[in-house]
Amino acid sequence: MKNCMLCFLFLLFMSCQQHDLVAHPTMLAVNNEKEQPMPTTKHKDEKPEKNCPKLTGRVLYPKEADYDKARLVSNFYPSKNQFPDVIVYCQNTQDVQNAVKWARCQEKPIRIRSGGHNHEGFSTGTGAIVIDVSEMKQLQVDKAKNIATIQPGITGGELYSQLFKEGLTQVGGTCADVGISGLVLTGGMGPLIRKHGLTCDNLLSFEMVNADGEILQVNPNNEHKDLFWAACGGGAGNFGILTSLTMKVYPANKVTWFNIGWDWNQPVEKVISVWQDLFADGDKKWFSHLDVWPKAFSIEEYKKQPVKAMGVFYGTPEEAKQALAPLLNIGKPNDQTIELVEWNKAIKAFEEATSVYITDKPEYKSSGAFAMKPLPAEAIKIIVDTLHKTTSPLLNVLFFSLGGAAQGKSPTATAYFYREAKFFLIYSTQWLQEKDDVKQIEELDSLRNRLLPYTQGDYTGNPDRNLKDYLTSYYGDNVKRLRCIKRKYDPHNIFQFEQSIPPAHKNADCAL
Ligand SMILES: Cc1cc2nc3c(=O)[nH]c(=O)nc-3n(C[C@H](O)[C@H](O)[C@H](O)COP(=O)(O)OP(=O)(O)OC[C@H]3O[C@@H](n4cnc5c(N)ncnc54)[C@H](O)[C@@H]3O)c2cc1C
Repeated sequence: MKNCMLCFLFLLFMSCQQHDLVAHPTMLAVNNEKEQPMPTTKHKDEKPEKNCPKLTGRVLYPKEADYDKARLVSNFYPSKNQFPDVIVYCQNTQDVQNAVKWARCQEKPIRIRSGGHNHEGFSTGTGAIVIDVSEMKQLQVDKAKNIATIQPGITGGELYSQLFKEGLTQVGGTCADVGISGLVLTGGMGPLIRKHGLTCDNLLSFEMVNADGEILQVNPNNEHKDLFWAACGGGAGNFGILTSLTMKVYPANKVTWFNIGWDWNQPVEKVISVWQDLFADGDKKWFSHLDVWPKAFSIEEYKKQPVKAMGVFYGTPEEAKQALAPLLNIGKPNDQTIELVEWNKAIKAFEEATSVYITDKPEYKSSGAFAMKPLPAEAIKIIVDTLHKTTSPLLNVLFFSLGGAAQGKSPTATAYFYREAKFFLIYSTQWLQEKDDVKQIEELDSLRNRLLPYTQGDYTGNPDRNLKDYLTSYYGDNVKRLRCIKRKYDPHNIFQFEQSIPPAHKNADCAL
């Protein structure tokens, strides 16, 4: 394992060399092609010899007040050592266009950021310009048509609460601070996945600024339908900058919320096995998380049970109680909440029930994998043994129930490939001291690796920089098509990061 870690650090170093510090050589060629207007103001860090366009929006340079806070993404660990050259908080699409044109003129690597929740910090980078859309937050709702046009910086929590005032909701995730951009472009899994599919299945059209700083209007029927296909699961950071999207919205009806909790004196293996049996069939009336923390988890400190089955049921509490009897009958659950609640209360309850942080700036690692069928007994034993023995109090396995409407399309109908999965498993861990990084990351990698015979791939929304073949892991059979679409829309690979989609080779056959 030590060797693996050394390889990982070496690859990380190489990847920093390639992506963070060195401008892509084709950027030079591009600069020669176009005359740009003279900037009216110039920061000392900008290259004086260039006639570059001006950056507009709220522009933040190192050493300015707020820079040190602004350079971090919500996940402190992967961003603590990242120092972008400039951060631009765009206020409108024109600011985004100017930022792309400026970056190309200045030969500056680009990182795109919205909610800043990328687990690996791919929305920031040393030496880059961070084009941040988080201050673009307008929302327009057409109640008659049940559609919303949304700017790219709105977060899940903001969208849920603004729509709720109109009696509506979105097909979003369960974390209030995740940005709509990152969510929809990676897929988007949440409480309505079985009823209405992924977040991106509810996308109707969008606006994107491409690598030349031009605006593209994209929908499933126009000349950019290939980009529409790619955006649903493969769009995060790869093809352009999302500046507006139009999505379906739905009535926000009351729902039955349930949360059943056990401690480690109860039969944890049985809880996992029964939970899987209950939620493997993709029944559209249910969505559930199974959240499993280790034996070392402190119930007193976090005021939560370490093992919890929670979720929503689109029916009455009485019906839910009956259907959940196999879970309720396991051992003696310490918590048993099953109640009818307003929709927005259920959304908040997910976050309250699952979020546990050792500090506000933890050392941290996360990974994930899809279970195409319920985990067999030997895989459950691996999870339970690991969580029983570990001394890491916050090593966590979180199961998402999938299926239902998300399975209504084929794996190649959009870039999001793992539509046939029954569950998604998130593995994560937090710790306090940097000196424990290697040990903690090894423990998480080891758990993931031992479960590989029973799982497939990973979700781009839950990236892991240690994956051996990240393209296949994220996109399965869709890799070739994605690379061809990348070649068409971003042939010079302007939008790149450690695990971005590279353009297809110029000789590759892209006749699709
Ligand atoms: C605490 C937590 C809870 C989560 N819960 C869920 C959940 O319930 N369901 C789920 O499906 N996922 C969930 N995720 C995963 C999350 O949806 C993805 O990580 C998502 O990509 C984060 O989006 P962001 O805009 O917040 O992050 P960012 O870090 O800003 O962006 C994420 C990626 O998208 C790119 N990007 C951002 N904005 C744009 C844009 N405007 N145009 C093009 N590319 C852009 C970035 O470059 C980066 O590669 C969770 C993540 C965390 C950390």
